[in-house]
Amino acid sequence: MDFTFRDEHEMLRQTVKEFVDAELRPIAARIDREHRIPREILFKLRDMGCLGIPFPEEYGGAGLGETGLCVFMEEITRGCFSTAVVCGGHTSIGATAIYLAGSDEQKRRYLPDLCEGKKWAAYALTEPQSGSDAGNMQVTAVRDGDAWLLNGSKIWITNGDFADVIVTFCATDRSQGTRGITAFIVDTATPGFSVGKPEEKMGQCGSTTVEIHFANVRVPERNLLGKVGEGFKVAMMTLDRGRLTLGANCLGAAKEALDVSIRYANERIAFGKPIAEQPAIQQMLADCATEIFAMESLLYRTAWMCDQGLPISRESAIVKLFCSEALDRVVDRAVQIHGGYGYSKEYAVERMYRDSRVNRLYEGTSEIQRLVIARSLIKKGGY
Ligand SMILES: Cc1cc2nc3c(=O)[nH]c(=O)nc-3n(C[C@H](O)[C@H](O)[C@H](O)COP(=O)(O)OP(=O)(O)OC[C@H]3O[C@@H](n4cnc5c(N)ncnc54)[C@H](O)[C@@H]3O)c2cc1C
Repeated sequence: MDFTFRDEHEMLRQTVKEFVDAELRPIAARIDREHRIPREILFKLRDMGCLGIPFPEEYGGAGLGETGLCVFMEEITRGCFSTAVVCGGHTSIGATAIYLAGSDEQKRRYLPDLCEGKKWAAYALTEPQSGSDAGNMQVTAVRDGDAWLLNGSKIWITNGDFADVIVTFCATDRSQGTRGITAFIVDTATPGFSVGKPEEKMGQCGSTTVEIHFANVRVPERNLLGKVGEGFKVAMMTLDRGRLTLGANCLGAAKEALDVSIRYANERIAFGKPIAEQPAIQQMLADCATEIFAMESLLYRTAWMCDQGLPISRESAIVKLFCSEALDRVVDRAVQIHGGYGYSKEYAVERMYRDSRVNRLYEGTSEIQRLVIARSLIKKGGY
């Protein structure tokens, strides 16, 4: 097993780091306050070629695999979690679903524009009555000549208000449960598609999360993604990758929280000396570093496995579970190290604490990750 980074991965890390230091981190508080990412930031990421990192060059991507995407996600999250989530909705789940399940024609039709940022993507699985129980969805797609008519509503859709293309999962045969679900590539300019209210969230406020509605949205047969009845499979194989990159988000956020805390601990004087000299503070710093090392090791080993074509369903659930829960422990300690100031919006850890919590919820809650892991163990009859 050799999961060292390629030179291209190191170069990507350096480029993104420079962008984050110079342009993104300095405005992260403003993005959170104004609930808006300046368009120039997204244009810059597009110009830097960061929107199609994992995909092969023949589809307009950078050819850097999931490892490359994780490197990008880790570094961008250090600057601004909201910006990372917009990129994640676009690349990690939206475009990835097309890459994994699309025909060659569909990939050539959509991926180059998505990689170049000419179009933006989203992924729509969740509904008001079905989150964890995704197989119980109510949005329907009914065949109508050489097209399908989509009806119903999805909620919590990241990028749903501005995406040009939304991979949408619909019930095509409700009697078949998860085997009656089909995936479609929906162009949002199609009549009958509309955007509902944005959610008012605890954190990640620069990223928009909205309801979307389908009223007789006519989707041509050529936009069917995968086979009829195989949509649930498409949803899950996409989430295998999405959960991995969420681990990268958590890793970047945890490193940032620790670095900010080390700086603060060196500067803050209590009882006549920096609090960094207090064993209790040192213990918290050490516990953060230990968990970060574990997160990093799990994440990049799994990304490497993915790039080797090995199965990663169980491993990416482990990455998501461990990294999201470890991140919460790290940001909690970061607030504790900052004392009362950690509770003030003047300090970045206040935002980091709010931005982090949702990682235990979206793309499958911690409880669902444990189900995935346990089921795979029981099916195999051992580790
Ligand atoms: C900021 C944000 C962005 C999102 N972006 C997207 C997106 O882009 N696309 C998209 O499709 N969705 C998105 N989601 C939706 C997200 O994936 C769901 O919220 C998540 O899967 C949980 O579903 P739920 O909210 O319906 O909770 P529920 O499924 O109602 O769960 C409620 C509680 O019950 C527990 N529970 C449920 N079933 C079980 C079980 N069998 N065993 C044990 N515990 C169980 C859960 O773990 C949880 O604690 C987003 C959500 C948020 C908050």
